[in-house]
Amino acid sequence: SRAAPGGPAGASVRLHGVSRRFGAVTALDAASLHVAAGSFCVLLGPSGCGKTTCLRIVAGLEQASDGRVEIGGRDVTALPPAQRGVAMVFQSYALFPHLNVAENIVFGLKARSVPKPERARRLERAAAILGIGHLLSRRPGQLSGGQQQRVALGRAIVAEAPVCLMDEPLSNLDAQLRADMRREILALQRRLGITMLYVTHDQTEAMGMADQVVLLREGRIEQDAPPADIYAHPATAFAASFIGTPPMNLLPLVPAAGGMVVRGTDGPVLVPPHPAAAQAGIRPEALRLAGQGLPATVLHAEYLGADTVLACLAGDGVRLLARLPGRTVLPDGAGVRLAIDPADIHLFDAAGQRIAP
Ligand code: ATP
Repeated sequence: SRAAPGGPAGASVRLHGVSRRFGAVTALDAASLHVAAGSFCVLLGPSGCGKTTCLRIVAGLEQASDGRVEIGGRDVTALPPAQRGVAMVFQSYALFPHLNVAENIVFGLKARSVPKPERARRLERAAAILGIGHLLSRRPGQLSGGQQQRVALGRAIVAEAPVCLMDEPLSNLDAQLRADMRREILALQRRLGITMLYVTHDQTEAMGMADQVVLLREGRIEQDAPPADIYAHPATAFAASFIGTPPMNLLPLVPAAGGMVVRGTDGPVLVPPHPAAAQAGIRPEALRLAGQGLPATVLHAEYLGADTVLACLAGDGVRLLARLPGRTVLPDGAGVRLAIDPADIHLFDAAGQRIAP
């Protein structure tokens, strides 16, 4: 296995029909999921979809209204947080300002009466893993954001818990540091072999880190799959538009001679006649400029270095984005044709459910 010698091994996490109601609000609605031991699971979704509630229920900081939670095959639904074998890293880091780094890291161990030599051993190991050995006598106020983040991770590491829960741990960091810490957290999880449940609303984090993405929408699990599967086969139009940057285009379809066309155009036919197809999902990176294809007007071309994102208008006011490799210079208002490979078209019905392929 990939667990480091001396480190904790991961434990599986299971939710069986877990709901949480706050008065009239259903924050989590009959959620069932299985996170394999030692894997990295990202809970993803827009603000208010129930991610934090789900994490807090696993931690035992919140009680489920219905359903069961299992960790490592053991029913922990009624257990307090300290007996569940979970470590948690919060968005705010929750460091004590009057304690130095070393004291902050071992605080939880002291509270649990872990003997001093054992605390020292774990502190040394965590400091070595995180490269913060030189910071141990500083106070949190004397650290950068990234260093504070490492201290918060250090606390989770010394807990040697089989499951680690993280709630938007990188949201206070700038973009560059976020990217670095993403890699560090992933490397850490792999090295320790622990099971990770990681909450974010940032689909880039989900794509880059997750073995498994659990996409939540209004308290329900919209799709639960590896990131590459959600990207290639989004189960719904919501999943299609949530994963990928820029998001998938969703073009309204209407019947025409020979098949379905984008509303307000008389061709080309995108797909054969289909009774239920209401929208065609096409990724911006699946569109190309060509002599033939969907007629569109360029609203704006944005050059990003590696590629150019073209915002266009087609049919009767349908907006769409095309992501073209390299630098494409086109004046606003230019007429273009966007070629689409039929294999790159995802079909959704009027309710947003995937039909094909
Ligand atoms: P965000 O990304 O904004 O943190 P989230 O996906 O983590 O959102 P939750 O914090 O789990 O979402 O909240 C889900 C829903 O439950 C929201 O409608 C929220 O207002 C509601 N909620 C959460 N905690 C409570 C509470 N203690 N009392 C009442 N309503 C709550």
